[in-house]
Amino acid sequence: MSKYDIERIRNQMKKNQAGRFRDPLEFRPPKVEAGKTLKFKFFVLPPLRKGDKVVSGQCSQSMEEYFCVKTGGHFINNELLTCPRILNNEECDLCTYAFELMNETDDKEKRKKIAKDFLPRTTHMMNLYFLPSVPNPQDLQGKVLYFNAPGQAYEPMEACINRDNAGGDSDNPQPFGVFFDETASFPYQLEIGHKGGYNDYTKSTLLYGGGARPIAASDAEIRAILDCRIDLFSKIPEPNTAKIASIVNKLKSFSGFDVTEPKDDTPVEPASRSEPESRIENKSIANERPYEEKPKSSVVVESHSSDDGGDDDEVDPEIQALLKKVAKK
Ligand SMILES: [Zn+2]
Repeated sequence: MSKYDIERIRNQMKKNQAGRFRDPLEFRPPKVEAGKTLKFKFFVLPPLRKGDKVVSGQCSQSMEEYFCVKTGGHFINNELLTCPRILNNEECDLCTYAFELMNETDDKEKRKKIAKDFLPRTTHMMNLYFLPSVPNPQDLQGKVLYFNAPGQAYEPMEACINRDNAGGDSDNPQPFGVFFDETASFPYQLEIGHKGGYNDYTKSTLLYGGGARPIAASDAEIRAILDCRIDLFSKIPEPNTAKIASIVNKLKSFSGFDVTEPKDDTPVEPASRSEPESRIENKSIANERPYEEKPKSSVVVESHSSDDGGDDDEVDPEIQALLKKVAKK
């Protein structure tokens, strides 16, 4: 008899086989079925500064004054590649490639498909504190988690910041200003419905309630909540521009485009920012020279739906045919 519990090991094995690594600190909204609605209530927590206490130790870099970090990733070869365009406003070869493809066709459906296959999904990453009450399920009550909020869920937050007052309707006052101030905050209600096969977040809203209020009853409780925040930057892999360039080269050669050899002066960004623990071993195509072998379909592009949390694990079989079609135009 081993001192290790075989049942627990088997359970863990099943979990590991079930899909990609799931970060227990990330809130991933469940997929909502047609005709159903799910609600969650939380406070969005204030931005972190470098050195602040976080759940894993100290925060690695400051979030300026803003409560969230805008990010996005391309899902290629079963790996999420951070998009340098969205994260840092820098050129992204994959985005450029997608825009080029889109420019070559007027077919709306085709353009939509290219966007879905190649363009990253923009999300807004933030720390949440789930209220210790319903409608939150018990396992979420009182928890601090981070959330990659899709655009629909982010919009009410932006609108709130842009409001200077509660509005003219005293029967229906609107939350306004810095809704994420831990001493004067408005709770957020995430309401998830279903639309066309995807989660729909458009009914989500910040709640005025009795007006702005502290996120907990005492300073000590507030402090304890803030100290559980997550260093968001540690959850975003550094954009790997060399790998992205290599993938684009493969896609181009496969689809009949001219293959441009990588320029020697192309800056290869080292993956310097705190290496994420979930990074998969870099044995893939990043280190291959794209012109060393005949192009083949080694780049697997996976579609992700726009708002299901990037959970779509299906490999898209149509993409290669599509690429051929589009490239020959
Ligand atoms: Zn990109």
